[in-house]
Amino acid sequence: MARDIVAEPDLQFTKDLIAAGGGDLKKCYQCATCSVACKVAPDNNPYPRKEMIWAQWGLKDKLLNDPDVWLCHQCNDCSTQCPRGANPGDALKAVRKMVIQNNAKPGFFGKLVGESSMFVLALGIPAVILLLILVISGFGFPEGAVKYSAHHLSPKDGFIYLPLIQIIFTAALAFSVVSLVMSLKSYLNNLETYNPIPLGTARKPFIPSLVEALAEILPHTTFKECEANNIRYTSHLLTFWGMIGLAVTTAIVAFNVDILGMLPPSQNGPGTIPIKILGNVSAIAFVVGLGIMLFRRLTAPDQTGGSSYFDWFFLLVICATGFSGLLTELLRWAGWAGGAYVLYAFHLWFVLTLLLYIPFSKFAHLGYRTVAIAWAKSANRNVMLPTKPKGVSAPPVEAVES
Ligand code: SF4
Ligand code: SF4
Repeated sequence: MARDIVAEPDLQFTKDLIAAGGGDLKKCYQCATCSVACKVAPDNNPYPRKEMIWAQWGLKDKLLNDPDVWLCHQCNDCSTQCPRGANPGDALKAVRKMVIQNNAKPGFFGKLVGESSMFVLALGIPAVILLLILVISGFGFPEGAVKYSAHHLSPKDGFIYLPLIQIIFTAALAFSVVSLVMSLKSYLNNLETYNPIPLGTARKPFIPSLVEALAEILPHTTFKECEANNIRYTSHLLTFWGMIGLAVTTAIVAFNVDILGMLPPSQNGPGTIPIKILGNVSAIAFVVGLGIMLFRRLTAPDQTGGSSYFDWFFLLVICATGFSGLLTELLRWAGWAGGAYVLYAFHLWFVLTLLLYIPFSKFAHLGYRTVAIAWAKSANRNVMLPTKPKGVSAPPVEAVES
């Protein structure tokens, strides 16, 4: 149920936002250039100017339950045009991190993934789980051609005991799905509570709004509006669909091997050529998309925006997963068994890390953004007037101030 919002300033929250990547937010002097520059901000609820003053005042509840921070696609057009260098794009990104952390269930995992002081523990937990799997599988490489999975412990007929991988990775995925659903449910309730819709305003049902949101998200329509960092459309699209292709490949292989009892593609099981093509094309798209993102982040930070620990942790895990997977495949083709097994162990480590931390890392933005866009559509919040053409610069600051 909606309720009146009492704006309680929380100065520690402002400090936390600054530490999370919004380092320049105090430079903002409310000129509104950013809200004019943003091509995707709805005309009836423009952003990010209002979020900047909320951030300065430490209005935690308003910011953490503001759907507009997720309508932002981090194109950075606002930051490149801000006359004060307040970097509103970075401030919104920092708020999104805090939303993920604040809604994390269980809360400890939000801290584990979001705080740099927990880095060793965050990577150490999946590392210990994997070491246990390796110990139970019986350390050591099998003789002959590369064979990653073992169906038996004795005699050992592959590198890692497959049933253990199946149980532990399925449990990690189940934990993440349940946690993400609970987190998003709590976030959706908060959106309703903190964003009362005026009486008499028409509402659309949520499910059709969700379908509408997905129709926009899947082809990445909104990303095309970006100017300062427009290559992000290509890199994000490649990474997104590459990841979906890899997930579908994994699901098909698991079904074929576990349910139908077929040989895995690496052992040339029958009918696996289409699966191999899907897996390899998806892996290439994933790695190329990530490569572009990484290159741009390192070479053009003024256009991509700053990168916080939260960004780097996610990039590290996702890059390590993608590159170790691709190298594992290449080394198997090259017949270098020792290298292939070591890399395969690294690959499993990072896949497990990725799976475990889906609801707490930047990965969760897939869920939060979808929910926020759907909610905004159901609340008729994102109305765009056909008067915001691309390439129109913001008005001069003096004009806005006068
Ligand atoms: S353009 Fe910069 S100074 Fe102006 S309101 Fe936006 S963030 Fe603040
Ligand atoms: S980063 Fe881009 S989408 Fe986000 S508020 Fe700024 S201009 Fe708008």
